Amino acid sequence: MDSSLRKFFNPNSLVLLGASSKEGSIGYEILKSILKFGYTGKIFVLNPNSKEILGVQCNSTLAEISDKIDLAIILLPKKLVLQGFKECVRKGIKNVIVITAGFKEVGDEGAKLENELLKIAMENQVRLIGPNCMGVINTDATVKLNATFAAELPKHSKTAFLSQSGALAAAVLNTISQTGFSFGQFVSVGNKADVNENDLLDYWANDPNVDVITMYLESFEDGRKFYELAKRITPTKPIIVLKGACSDAGSKAAISHTGALASADKIVNTALKQCGAMRVETIEEMFETASAFQKFSLPKGNRVAVLTNAGGPGILLVDELERNNLKLSSLNINRTKRLREILLPESSFGNPIDMLPGATAQIYKNAAEIILEDNDVDSLIIIFVEPVMIDSFDVLSFLSIVQKNSRKPVLLTAFPLPRFWGRWGKLGDKETIIYKSLELPPKILRHLWERKLRIEELNANRKSLSKLKTKERDDLQKIFDRNKDQLIQQKDLQAVCKKLKLPIVKSMLVENLKEAKQKFKSLKFPIVLKVESPDVIHKSDIGGVITNIKNLQELESAFKQIRQNLKKKKIAGKNVSYLLQEFVNGGIEVIIGGFRDPGFGPVVMFGAGGKLVELIKDNNFALAPITKHEAEKLIYNSKIYPLLKGFRGEKGIDIKPIAEILLLCSELMMNYDEIKEFDINPLIVKPGRGKSKIVDMRIIL
Ligand code: ADP
Ligand code: MG
Repeated sequence: MDSSLRKFFNPNSLVLLGASSKEGSIGYEILKSILKFGYTGKIFVLNPNSKEILGVQCNSTLAEISDKIDLAIILLPKKLVLQGFKECVRKGIKNVIVITAGFKEVGDEGAKLENELLKIAMENQVRLIGPNCMGVINTDATVKLNATFAAELPKHSKTAFLSQSGALAAAVLNTISQTGFSFGQFVSVGNKADVNENDLLDYWANDPNVDVITMYLESFEDGRKFYELAKRITPTKPIIVLKGACSDAGSKAAISHTGALASADKIVNTALKQCGAMRVETIEEMFETASAFQKFSLPKGNRVAVLTNAGGPGILLVDELERNNLKLSSLNINRTKRLREILLPESSFGNPIDMLPGATAQIYKNAAEIILEDNDVDSLIIIFVEPVMIDSFDVLSFLSIVQKNSRKPVLLTAFPLPRFWGRWGKLGDKETIIYKSLELPPKILRHLWERKLRIEELNANRKSLSKLKTKERDDLQKIFDRNKDQLIQQKDLQAVCKKLKLPIVKSMLVENLKEAKQKFKSLKFPIVLKVESPDVIHKSDIGGVITNIKNLQELESAFKQIRQNLKKKKIAGKNVSYLLQEFVNGGIEVIIGGFRDPGFGPVVMFGAGGKLVELIKDNNFALAPITKHEAEKLIYNSKIYPLLKGFRGEKGIDIKPIAEILLLCSELMMNYDEIKEFDINPLIVKPGRGKSKIVDMRIIL
């Protein structure tokens, strides 16, 4: 594999700039880490004031060294970093890690210096990790590089781990002897001046030594790119993301409902789900999920059997299963019969199967094997609470065999006495995964199950469709050009709908009552009257919408009413015109929207519309472009869907035409960068084809 990042993890030689002979300083500790872990390459140390540090001879300049150097690690004081960096470039080093802090993270001056580093790096095809980072680790036996100042080291595995926070990485490394977390490659990306999560995704995707990618991120450097990359990678390599800084403020400047509802965190969630990455909430969940992906095959379904020797823990675990959208399997009757033959008669034979504290190692194993044969069981969780008389070591040894031999996931969670762990650490099977909580196994199982679903979806869903023809596209462009930087005018909205064949309700724009009286006949009563003005965003909020107008007389008083309401709100007459519309009787109001996220780009939204938008917050997003399947899924997953499907004997609504509109909106967002946000709110949907109507729409350029 040839990549500009390879030498960060596999350098044949490295040099430290800023190594120090002072014990306890970073420049000392990092060299100690490198030596202690047994780096297999050549080490050079630059220090004009010392002859040797920790037994390594020092050089005073890079020029003195005749060997080729693959990697430079800079820990110099901030004011010397630039000079040191330039020296590395002159020496022809192509990979540089800057650990030193005090750059972008401290303000403008630091940012300037950081930009300078980046500029030099780009001009010379040098890749830069950091600044303000903690370094890299590669636990591979052929490399053994620990270029961090954390002394503790993980067990080797094929998990890659990226951390945007050095301190969080330190917390993980410092506790590794208790947690047992494992990984192969680690990188602290710091300020991400050059190398960021997208570069590493791409790199690890192609690295055969990595089979799961984990990331702690506080921000996405380029969300859209992450999404595209991850979508390509996740079907073959799981990506697990722990995202911090989940502030939930919506986009404050948004004019549309969609924009206001699209909080940054919601879009992150949407993007991760849609690209098939898994989002986790804790460090523990992240590493345990990574190991689970390596250990277990994906379950066929979400039906779980629970085998326990303790009632209460079994009940709590079942509650957790439900929280994680997993189901209890109903055991086959033959299976129950066979369980009765081997378990105490007082046991519970339903699910959870509670064998009571008397269950021995052999009984545990036999029962587990019987349950796993059941076709209605997709995975098994086994709980063990150590009773007096039963030896934990025996039980877990037997269960470890069950875990190893099963094609279905077998998750063990155990609560033995403390002395067990020491013994297991020495003599137990190292490959066995034993959890110590009731909350974690259901979460892990959910990730396994969801991964299976997402892979299927991604594989089924590769192409998105394009419906717009060139002619339509050009016509629409003209409309958007003449409405630059604002809300699209009503008459142009009608034109947009016509071009896209969106089912907008029959409408006409008039200046006043007089004009309305001349023209209303082309609509059939009952009709609707609305105010139309750039100063009014939410018309009904100010009494600007009157529906179900049955005759001319009512139309006259509707005009009067709206004019009065406008006066009360001091809305100027000169900017006001009126919209007459056919009245759509009955139906269900839904919202379809679009929004351009600053990081993840165009998204579309579906949910309950009209008055319900703010009330039930049924906002379901997807990154555009969407496929037909994704459009339908967006509808199925909404809170309003049960109502659309037909509630209490009512006739159901065909969702295909709604999905079609969503697809068109996705197209619109993809084709026209100038569209900032838009709402169709409401689209009033009814049973029967062609009866759904858009009664209100806004597009913001
Ligand atoms: P706004 O969103 O600016 O307040 P709308 O045009 O969406 O104004 O109208 C508000 C509400 O009035 C809609 O949610 C819907 O309940 C009702 N409404 C508006 N136009 C029609 C129509 N043509 N037929 C039936 N009901 C309508
Ligand atoms: Mg509306």
